[in-house]
Amino acid sequence: MKSLVLEEKLKLSLRDFPIEREETLGPRDVRIKLHTVGICGSDVHYYTHGGAGIFQVRAPMILGHEASGTVIEAGSEVSTLKVGDRVCMEPGIPDPNSRATRLGLYNVDPAVRFWATPPVHGVLRPTVVHPENFTFKLPDNVSFAEAAMVEPLAVGVHAATKAQVKPGDVALVIGAGPIGLVTALAALAAGCAKVFVSDIDDSKLELAAKLGTITPVNVSRQDLTQEILTATDGWGVEIVFECAGSPRAAEAVFDALCPAGRVVFIGVQMHPIAYDVGKAMVREARVEHVFRYAHVFPRCVAMLSSGAIDVKPLITRTFGFEESVRAFEIAASAPKGEVKMQIELPQ
Ligand SMILES: [Zn+2]
Repeated sequence: MKSLVLEEKLKLSLRDFPIEREETLGPRDVRIKLHTVGICGSDVHYYTHGGAGIFQVRAPMILGHEASGTVIEAGSEVSTLKVGDRVCMEPGIPDPNSRATRLGLYNVDPAVRFWATPPVHGVLRPTVVHPENFTFKLPDNVSFAEAAMVEPLAVGVHAATKAQVKPGDVALVIGAGPIGLVTALAALAAGCAKVFVSDIDDSKLELAAKLGTITPVNVSRQDLTQEILTATDGWGVEIVFECAGSPRAAEAVFDALCPAGRVVFIGVQMHPIAYDVGKAMVREARVEHVFRYAHVFPRCVAMLSSGAIDVKPLITRTFGFEESVRAFEIAASAPKGEVKMQIELPQ
């Protein structure tokens, strides 16, 4: 049973890996044969940096947390899933009895165990045991590849929910990476009339422009605030989603925001950043932060099935499992034009 193991910073191997403890099936668990796993920026960051903030890779760890697969065994008390069901999985498992979980805030439960976040193993491996409660059945018209996009999409849907999008809002998404693009899709599906997407990579912006009523802005040669103020008769956008994790972008989030607008910080900031309270104050801006997501996987699956959201254009490259190490080397080189790369496991 081969797995993709991050041995240490910049060292990946495809090898047998004993993970006995996770292989015990509880009464409310299912065993899933993995089908498709997306490569996330966080997986790549662990590979290139050996850690992120408080999460440092101190022992070999299996990567991957954006996953879909097929149920191959169900625990004795499982009632909503059966062998053969196609599913996607929510990768963070909270303590069901914690105060945060009981308040419905399970994503910010300090005890949450999240795939491929040290010391918890990810799912670039043949099978995984997972709780029924965090495993979601797929309709026939949602492919394994689309289902492995539910995890990143959930971030965008959670952000749109936090922003309380109203029909006809105009939004700005800063950053056209995978999270920026799923956030733009979620904002449109939530009712935005139009979304501006800013980045410095023309190939990503070209892709963004094809996803819906999206106006791309290349900030390496266009003045973002001017573009938005001109297009909105000087009013500004109702919502700004910061998906770049860029301190410079974060400094300017209020510039093109309308009075009483909302700002959602989504991009990971590695260090403390400046935040212009004066500009926020004169607009009575509301500022939100998101950490992953909660309660949105079923909504994401429903939107993929209904066609309200199409993530297929974001999947730009698929690798076989045997090519996983090379896939990560390519992902680490941040190739232009690539949005989401995925790995397919042998079936
Ligand atoms: Zn991810």
